[in-house]
Amino acid sequence: MRRPVGEPERRRRHFGIIRPVKVEIIEPHGLCAGVNAAIAKALRLRNVYCLHELVHNEIVVDELKGLGYRFVDRIEDVPDGETVVFSAHGVAPGVRDYAAEHGMKVVDTTCPFVAKVHRAARDFAKRGLSVAVIGDQDHVEVKGILGEIPEGMLLKETGAGDGGRPRIGVVAQTTMNADDVARQVDRLKERYEVEAMAEVCRATKERQDAVRGFCARCSAEDGPYAVLVLGSRTSANSRRLAEVAAEGGARAFMAGTMDELRAVDFSGVVRLGVTSGASTPERFFVEAVRHLRNVPQHVAIIMDGNGRWATQRGKRRGEGHVAGAKTLGDVLKWCGDRGIKYLTVYAFSTENWKRPKEEVDGLMKLFARMLKSKERDFFRNKVRFRMIGRRGDLSEKLLGVVESLEAKTAHFDRQFIVAIAYGGRAEIVDAVNAAIERGEKLTEETFRGYLYAPDVPDPDLVVRTSGELRTSNFLLWESAYSEYYFTDTLWPDFSERELDAALESYAARHRRKGGV
Ligand code: SF4
Repeated sequence: MRRPVGEPERRRRHFGIIRPVKVEIIEPHGLCAGVNAAIAKALRLRNVYCLHELVHNEIVVDELKGLGYRFVDRIEDVPDGETVVFSAHGVAPGVRDYAAEHGMKVVDTTCPFVAKVHRAARDFAKRGLSVAVIGDQDHVEVKGILGEIPEGMLLKETGAGDGGRPRIGVVAQTTMNADDVARQVDRLKERYEVEAMAEVCRATKERQDAVRGFCARCSAEDGPYAVLVLGSRTSANSRRLAEVAAEGGARAFMAGTMDELRAVDFSGVVRLGVTSGASTPERFFVEAVRHLRNVPQHVAIIMDGNGRWATQRGKRRGEGHVAGAKTLGDVLKWCGDRGIKYLTVYAFSTENWKRPKEEVDGLMKLFARMLKSKERDFFRNKVRFRMIGRRGDLSEKLLGVVESLEAKTAHFDRQFIVAIAYGGRAEIVDAVNAAIERGEKLTEETFRGYLYAPDVPDPDLVVRTSGELRTSNFLLWESAYSEYYFTDTLWPDFSERELDAALESYAARHRRKGGV
């Protein structure tokens, strides 16, 4: 017999996946300045060779492969005269010499901090000191550093000194566990006079300290806690974050892709800290957190109450619409911060044409003004703008603004969809007529192809403001299985807290979509 599922357990179960109850973002996390700069440089190039992975992250590597990058593990595999990119981890001097001798054009993305470690190793050796390198000898970065040290000067054996405590230089791989490096330097100091440039880089240390801080804040009494590191297993700094979490008493998980994340079983975890390695793209982080928090992919909003808001304050209705437009700008940003990929808003219905002409004209001007003024924001935040509705009902001028913005932003992934001159019934009628014109007999699947935005997934959550409990002809087909959230708040007063309340309400629901 199935036992009834209690609320805490119910909150953990969504779509058959066991999720932790509380998901916290550990700050700072993610891309460091060195990797950011390397990726920015690399994205400007096409069809070039790259010695080793530019950074240890398969998402980034796949993106570069899409730009024609060929990744090789030996400089000898790059044909003479070709362009070769040196990764953020740096290369040994011998590699540079080889590239120069064979007429290669070099694009060097070595992180300045890695370059500093190379310089330190070189300087120690020049001054006649033996050099110890703390790090993973198979890691590309360590191989590059070793190339700076003449064979005889490399201190491989760290056994007892000769009694006279010889002086040595010590350097470390930049992405080691900071505590481990300090311990190893202390051990060396027992036998040698140590000159050390053995610090992990600041970005690595800050991310490790943040994980330590999270573990220290979690108490075993609150229940099992865990840390999820988003990053590839090939990434040394990501692996170290998982080690630091385990040292702090947390269960440690790693995931480098959404598929890997979906396979993680968080059973029993009640508090989860999420961090990411220095080479993990932020867009993956946002997507992963959205998934963990059960944030809807597509939110649709019936923005109601501008007129009442204005009337309550003795203002003209037009002023309510201006205030509503400002709220919309804020909501678009908040949705982006939370990883919501699609936001659709109901701005003007087919029924709204019946409003006084002055109000309708004012609204159309406001749309055009708002869209023009938001163009820079759309680019900055990488948002694709789209309109759904009867385009033929718009003035030529407004339609021009709409279509120009649609064309300019078409390449962006995140979408902001505005329903203007829109009606759910009108959309269905338009779809059916289009199918009839083509002589097509429809199924549910083929019908979708005739909707205004057929590629956009159905809304997971529909929010309606101002206390009305109706759908008002909005997304009638698309919202068949949407969750609804109603609030008395008038649209211009809709706040970030209210958005979070709607998302929280959604996250607590168990969407069966007709199943069990
Ligand atoms: S982790 Fe540190 S050393 Fe490595 S690329 Fe980033 S800033 Fe540079």
